[in-house]
Amino acid sequence: MSWLKRERKRIKKTDKPERPDLPEGLWTKCEGCGEALFQTVLEENLWTCPKCGFHFRVPARTYLAVLVDEGSFAERDARLVAGDPLEFRDARMRYPDRLKAAQRETGMSDALLSGVATIGGKPVSVALMDFFFMGGSMGSVVGEKIARAIERAMAERRAVVIVSSTGGARMQEGILSLMQMAKTSALLAKLQAERLPFISILVDPSMAGVLASFASLGDVIVAEPGALVGFAGARVIRQTIGQDLPEGFQRSEFVLEKGFIDRIVHRRQMRAEVGHLLEFFWRSTRGFAPEGQPSPHPFHAGAPSADGTAAPDALTK
Ligand SMILES: [Zn+2]
Repeated sequence: MSWLKRERKRIKKTDKPERPDLPEGLWTKCEGCGEALFQTVLEENLWTCPKCGFHFRVPARTYLAVLVDEGSFAERDARLVAGDPLEFRDARMRYPDRLKAAQRETGMSDALLSGVATIGGKPVSVALMDFFFMGGSMGSVVGEKIARAIERAMAERRAVVIVSSTGGARMQEGILSLMQMAKTSALLAKLQAERLPFISILVDPSMAGVLASFASLGDVIVAEPGALVGFAGARVIRQTIGQDLPEGFQRSEFVLEKGFIDRIVHRRQMRAEVGHLLEFFWRSTRGFAPEGQPSPHPFHAGAPSADGTAAPDALTK
């Protein structure tokens, strides 16, 4: 019965092709299909696997380049840093030391990059969470920078676009972290009253206190394929209800089916898709104008042409 017995040797598994002449770090193994991917190929594919479509986590600055019009970004609130009013110390480290280590590793002051830019030519106030900075956790700085990004959108008549990539609230800031949920949500209600759109983009993972506040309050909620989207983690839920969870639980495809999000968009199409959505809001609000008033953006005041740019006569007015 040879088919019950392995007669030939097992196929030897390697993490990367045997090319000893290539230096380390040029290949990355896909977490989705196991394929060894050349770094430049990955970069060309915006850090998604060309074979299986797996979306790698990327730093906020990398995602910024994927999302906004080239050369349009101006950073705001770059110097905000967290205090340590609770004098928190976890099992291994004081909070200020943990912050310093994360700042050294990422080159960021906290877990959020924010500023103004355009997407498809439309003015946006944009904020991107960085999972590599303490798991993208939301403390007082992340919350404050998001609050300011929303206020800036209202003052300058911009749409708000926020990219979430986070494990949730930052435990080192306790209740100060949880307060950010109410603060950001309240400002989004004001934004809505001002008739300005908010597009929420969920990137793996978008969890807990962030999903339970601003991330799920988008006029349109878009997620990347395969992103983890939920409140409590699967293990906690399984233990609480004492039941096995369905396959693909809390992945974006699952939450789309349940109606929690509006669409799933591949990273390659993200800028075009968000631009398309902004175009829709732009037309329906006559250029992000307040009720009954002309567009506050003179260069965009004319009727947009088919490709989304302003008609030539608008530029001469
Ligand atoms: Zn893959």
